[in-house]
Amino acid sequence: MGCKKKVLAVHVLVFPFPAQSHVSSMLKFAELLCLENLKVTFLNSHYIHDRLFRCTDVEARFANYPGLIRFKTIPDGLPEDHPRCGHDRFREMFESTRAVTKPLFREMMVSGELSLGSSTWSPVTCIVADGVMSFAIDVAKDIGIMSVAFRTISASCYRAYFSIPRLIEAGELPFQGNVDMDMPIEHVPGMEGFLRRRDLPGFCRSSNLADPILQFVISESQHNARADALIVNTFEDLEAPALAHIRTHIIPNTYAIGPLHSHLQTRLGGKTAVSLYTLWEADRNCLTWLDTQPSKSVVYVSFGSAVVMTRDQLLEFWYGLVNSKKRFLWVMRPDLVTGKDETPIPAELLERTSGVGCLVDWAPQEEVLGHRAIGGFLTHSGWNSTLESIVAGVPMICWPYFADQMVNSRFVSEAWKLGVDMKDLCNRGIVEKMVNDLMVERREEFVRSADEMARLARESVSRGGSSFCKLDRLIKDIRINSQRASKTSIIFDVNYPFNLNRS
Ligand code: UDP
Repeated sequence: MGCKKKVLAVHVLVFPFPAQSHVSSMLKFAELLCLENLKVTFLNSHYIHDRLFRCTDVEARFANYPGLIRFKTIPDGLPEDHPRCGHDRFREMFESTRAVTKPLFREMMVSGELSLGSSTWSPVTCIVADGVMSFAIDVAKDIGIMSVAFRTISASCYRAYFSIPRLIEAGELPFQGNVDMDMPIEHVPGMEGFLRRRDLPGFCRSSNLADPILQFVISESQHNARADALIVNTFEDLEAPALAHIRTHIIPNTYAIGPLHSHLQTRLGGKTAVSLYTLWEADRNCLTWLDTQPSKSVVYVSFGSAVVMTRDQLLEFWYGLVNSKKRFLWVMRPDLVTGKDETPIPAELLERTSGVGCLVDWAPQEEVLGHRAIGGFLTHSGWNSTLESIVAGVPMICWPYFADQMVNSRFVSEAWKLGVDMKDLCNRGIVEKMVNDLMVERREEFVRSADEMARLARESVSRGGSSFCKLDRLIKDIRINSQRASKTSIIFDVNYPFNLNRS
């Protein structure tokens, strides 16, 4: 049966969940692998691939790594015109990934399709899959190669996700009776009494334990423990307790290698700007506007790629900002506002905005946060935005919307003292007060902790720093495991069906 032994090159398949922040952090990771001469196949949904190649310089950028990276696609199972953003839509995305992408992925891997007929691309020797697509871990196990789960959320949040079954067992979930959202939660290890009900991930607010998103998160989080290793985009000095807990109780080989955007910049020698890898085209005019503003005078406002809000909420933020009398740069995505209310924005509000406010559809966020004019960040507490703000040393006002953002904002305000949390509140008075707290009243206190955390973040990704060393270790492990895979794999001639036997 035409089989032969063959020594395989290291070939890592990187496979993100098809959503903006997952793709951008895993692309940065893929570039870090290329810098270390590992071959990478980056597997995106068709939809994400098209937008990424349309809106960013990804193609030109990865041309710097000839023969080391290639992009492949797989369907996400959703119709072309599906909006793919907003809380309700995520459920459809998870479901279609499981129903459509999962079987196609298995077929792709088991058939050896990614290397068939190619003299340059040998079989995949390691799968790094998004931590919410653990079906890919099972496939790696079945074909006998290394599996790595990549969590794009904070370690603290992952720890909270992992503890949800304990909360249910202890009767802390679902919330019962007349709900006091400030009631402390006692069964997330290491965070006893620190998280309140309102700080639990958004889907924990469901009174129905059979809620599909809740069940999905529980099963994916437990499933991560089956991987050979876990990657988290964080750093030791920020989340040491959560990381220690994960290593002891969930998965010993846990690699904290973040903040990835900063890590990549270090390994690129600090000279090359890190690309955005976002799904909208950034409007760079806002940088010119920032150039004309005084130092630390501008509040940057952005709610990431998936948050949606009502027109009323938008107006409360808007009035709060102009009433604060601070300058602001606001990313108003064209799909930010839901609902059919098309009443024009009051002329008076637009008038009060001119001169102090700059509105854009999408901004080059990392550069914006690093601009000397930025003094604060009103954010939805997405994990990438949080890390980018930490690295830039910019204090935050947090308005979390769902999922991990609830936990992140609690840590930002109460554990790391990097800003204020306005979770569950949205009125102009609160916005005005929080902006003034951040920019004036409590500025010194926040700037002190933000400067210190920024220093620690940069240190972690410098040569000899914790994240730098962890990435070196991970790459070494991938090389060793890939060699092991190559020694035990039987590669069949293309004319024969793939077989899972081992020699
Ligand atoms: N981002 C950007 N320009 C914008 C808004 C956001 O480049 O105008 C980027 C931001 O730098 C971050 C990502 O989009 O890397 C948002 O990721 P995050 O995890 O914060 O939130 P999500 O979009 O997943 O809710």
